Amino acid sequence: MRLLLFLCLLTTFGSYAQKCDFQFDITCDTSKFDFADYKDSLAFYESLFGRKKDAKIDDEKLKLAFYVALRYYPELNDANLNLNLKSINTTMQAQPKWTFIFRTKENRGYQILINRDNTINGMYYKDLSFNSLVGWIGHELAHILDYSKKDNGEMIAFIADYVTSKDRVRKTETRADKETIRHGLGIQLLDGVTFFHNSKRISHEYRERKKNYYLSPEEIVAEIKQHCD
Ligand SMILES: [Zn+2]
Repeated sequence: MRLLLFLCLLTTFGSYAQKCDFQFDITCDTSKFDFADYKDSLAFYESLFGRKKDAKIDDEKLKLAFYVALRYYPELNDANLNLNLKSINTTMQAQPKWTFIFRTKENRGYQILINRDNTINGMYYKDLSFNSLVGWIGHELAHILDYSKKDNGEMIAFIADYVTSKDRVRKTETRADKETIRHGLGIQLLDGVTFFHNSKRISHEYRERKKNYYLSPEEIVAEIKQHCD
């Protein structure tokens, strides 16, 4: 479906509203996910993904966003993957379970951690729309897909490089953003990134630190246009 849309993200989150700073012309499917359309589908998704995708959390919106994003990554159908809440200093992070060093890459477990402490950085997952959550989780799934292609030696070298090189972080994060867009979740990613740039609750320091490593909204739109025709 081709749609011409001047995208003005005027969604209200809690007690504050996003500004309409970005106006884009996007020629591709711009439909968004609405939680109301999915909230009765949890049992369906749990039976669809079975025991290899574990989300032992109470938040149904987050759980469903995880499942909806997973449908865009059929390459991960056989991956063992958990979704967990934890107090961490970033909004979300994807990682192999530490036991990977004893296993082949085919038998590894992975996890996506979501920060559950709303006092850290001002960026709290519950403030994100359902559509944005799908986009952000889609970005984490792009990391898992990347990890799934690395053998253990490559995985260890990657981790060492990521924690010591800002250039490696930038390359890894922009690649994950592009992979998210290629998997069909560009509009969702754009929604989440636009929220990140406009939310007044997110600390200035956190925003400045993060924005150096990810695609800007303008870069996301350019990438969407490249992949949506
Ligand atoms: Zn990332």
